[in-house]
Amino acid sequence: MVLYIIDHPYHYEAENLCRVFYPFDKVTVQHEFMPSDENRTVYTAEENGEYIVRIEDADGKTERKAKVGAETEYGMVSLLFDAFCAHTGKMPRWGMLTGIHPIKLLRQLTEQHGEAEAARLFREKYFVSNEKTALAVRTLRAQKPITDKVRENDYSLYISVPFCPTRCAYCSFVSQSVEKAKKQIPEYHRLLLEELKETAKVADALGLNLRAVYVGGGTPTTFSAEQLSEMIRVVKDSFDMSQCEELTVEAGRPDTIDRAKLDALLKSGVSRISINPQTLQDNVLENIGRRHTAQQTVDAFHLAREAGFTNINMDLIVGLPGDTYETFCDTIEKVIALDPENVTVHALALKRSSFITQSGEINKAHADAALADRMMAYAEKRLTERGLEPYYLYRQSRMAGNLENTGWAKPGTECAYNIFTMDETETVLACGAGGVTKLKNPYSEDLSRIFNFKYSYEYISRYPEILERKEGIAKQYEQFRKRLH
Ligand code: SF4
Repeated sequence: MVLYIIDHPYHYEAENLCRVFYPFDKVTVQHEFMPSDENRTVYTAEENGEYIVRIEDADGKTERKAKVGAETEYGMVSLLFDAFCAHTGKMPRWGMLTGIHPIKLLRQLTEQHGEAEAARLFREKYFVSNEKTALAVRTLRAQKPITDKVRENDYSLYISVPFCPTRCAYCSFVSQSVEKAKKQIPEYHRLLLEELKETAKVADALGLNLRAVYVGGGTPTTFSAEQLSEMIRVVKDSFDMSQCEELTVEAGRPDTIDRAKLDALLKSGVSRISINPQTLQDNVLENIGRRHTAQQTVDAFHLAREAGFTNINMDLIVGLPGDTYETFCDTIEKVIALDPENVTVHALALKRSSFITQSGEINKAHADAALADRMMAYAEKRLTERGLEPYYLYRQSRMAGNLENTGWAKPGTECAYNIFTMDETETVLACGAGGVTKLKNPYSEDLSRIFNFKYSYEYISRYPEILERKEGIAKQYEQFRKRLH
């Protein structure tokens, strides 16, 4: 597909809308008009006081025009959305929202206009469906008591452990062969502990209050029991934990969990873990390259309960290869029978560099938006019936059915870190490969980011640069505080 963007600033939105409606097209952007041989062209331009949109492909030609008037903020974008709907006959459930933080937008609208008007704007200005608007409103209500408690200097700590026992077929995060990466673990662990100590010094000097710690990845339980204990000991010794209310560790893959690691985590004070089935169907697990069985997940869950964990999350994915509506519902029922405190339901996002995308093995549920939608609706219905509420939600591009990822929790068991990072309510200091430090201006919605290197081998070889980048934290806070006075 060629997307022409001529003389208007809505590049990001136009490109994203192309992906919403044509998730499997490669989009080439051109800023000047030149005839193209591509079988689909989308022309968007501002010409002589008008927005012009023209979509042409084998299905025909759809054209829309509108005057550049008072309501211009979304003028071009809504025109394009309207043209795509007419051309494809599709009406995406999240309307023309293409950003990853719809709840943040709803919160801002609610703060300005109140809940009812914000919901109306969601439906009528952004074309979000009634069901998704209702889901967003519920999510915002559930997270409000937690975001309301955030104070000026609060922050969370994210620790990345970017190793996994095998690479899932839908993953774009792990770059090297798993075997090669594993050899790096001892050196990575050593540098990570050093980075944690340095980060604690920065946070201390700025007078920041640590509220939540989240260890993610990758699969943090690729570390041994000793490495996990040592990492958490360093966190506790280096950071002021007096106001820290939660410590989550993703124990993602059941094939990395054993009693020694669970005991080590619990003894270290970990309050919440994730054990992620993704699916409880063995054939689907095989399709996605996870070399464990559904039974291993169930056993790992029971082992964690026996060890004493009282807050366990389980991640599931809609749109996996080989999953059907019936097998997905079966997975939901089996998860519900285990009675975890949290369930996170993801819609499969196809990343360009994942095996699944490269092999062209697009699952029926991914291509079939209606099927993905039914699966998601079933999860929503059953989790609601079990007393769980949606409490954080985010979206990615190229998601099955153009849907969303939603974290569900029994009231009182929500993971505050998930809310903070998705709502961008407070600063997140990140350590480890792939970590992104997000510095939130406590006096506005401004956010600035500092990136660590994505892959473990870069992190190790360029570690001194990671420490140099930490200097940016104090400088940015100085700016935040200066602007206030
Ligand atoms: S567990 Fe996560 S990070 Fe690891 S390979 Fe699978 S998708 Fe990628």
